[in-house]
Amino acid sequence: MFDNLSNKLDRAFKTLKGQGSITEINVAQTIKEVRRALVDADVNYKVAKTVTDKIKDEAMGRDVLIAVSPGQLMVKIVHEELTQLMGGEKQDIVLKGDPAVILIAGLQGSGKTTFTGKLANFLKKQNRNVLIAACDVYRPAAIDQVKVLAEQVGVEVYSETDNKNPVQIAQNAIEFAKRNNKKVVIIDTAGRLAVDEAMMREIAEIKNAIKPTETLFVVDSMTGQDAVNTAKTFNERINFDGVVLTKLDGDSRGGAALSIRAVVEKPIKFISTGEKMEALDLFYPDRMAQRILG
Ligand code: GDP
Repeated sequence: MFDNLSNKLDRAFKTLKGQGSITEINVAQTIKEVRRALVDADVNYKVAKTVTDKIKDEAMGRDVLIAVSPGQLMVKIVHEELTQLMGGEKQDIVLKGDPAVILIAGLQGSGKTTFTGKLANFLKKQNRNVLIAACDVYRPAAIDQVKVLAEQVGVEVYSETDNKNPVQIAQNAIEFAKRNNKKVVIIDTAGRLAVDEAMMREIAEIKNAIKPTETLFVVDSMTGQDAVNTAKTFNERINFDGVVLTKLDGDSRGGAALSIRAVVEKPIKFISTGEKMEALDLFYPDRMAQRILG
């Protein structure tokens, strides 16, 4: 087990206890430790540098109380700063409109379809009448997968086996929802294994045609730096509203949350923590800060 940041900071500041305030000299080595810990937690280097510069400004001149160890004070400052950088408060999904339309985008394997099922389950538990639209026209297995998940959570699926036009399917699903008193339509789209032009064009076309209430970008937290690059590319093309970070039940420290938030400036709204339909949580910046700190 590697040493967590709290322990490191405590050690680095041991000598400072009771010596007045935090100064440039004694903060420098600690800032290095913080930066290294962030990079270890998969935070993009540039982001880690910006963050630690802010933390340094914040820490300078703070009084070191006799009762609190300087290391603990520093941990507190880092925690507060990380929480703020990730948005401070949790941000809820927006469900305006009748029906509200939620478009789900992301690479294949990111956990899009699983999240679609989980979100349907989450909204159904709030007594909302939900419809899932299966718009992956390239992999017949994808539609079957959506149906299996939807059945587990007791939500209806709209699909068109012979139609290869995802824009039309999405539009037809919304019409179907209006006729059948569905209040939320979740649109699961096709992904590819890597960002490619055809996928980007398709998801942008769907978005332009249906004007969703929310577009959520799903990304695998285990993919480290790639997660940031993928988020950046998707955001440039479809200007999404929020991020879903998946596979946080793995051993990733969650640094992707901080990097993505810093790079695309969009809130993370949900985290996915397993394959089961219940394994979904809202995103709490303070909890993620704690996880990143270790
Ligand atoms: P899609 O191609 O983006 O639709 O991805 P899927 O929803 O099919 O998910 C890809 C794989 O990741 C599947 O085996 C899922 O069971 C798994 N998966 C999805 N979300 C999570 C998660 O939060 N944790 C774990 N451990 N596995 C997940």
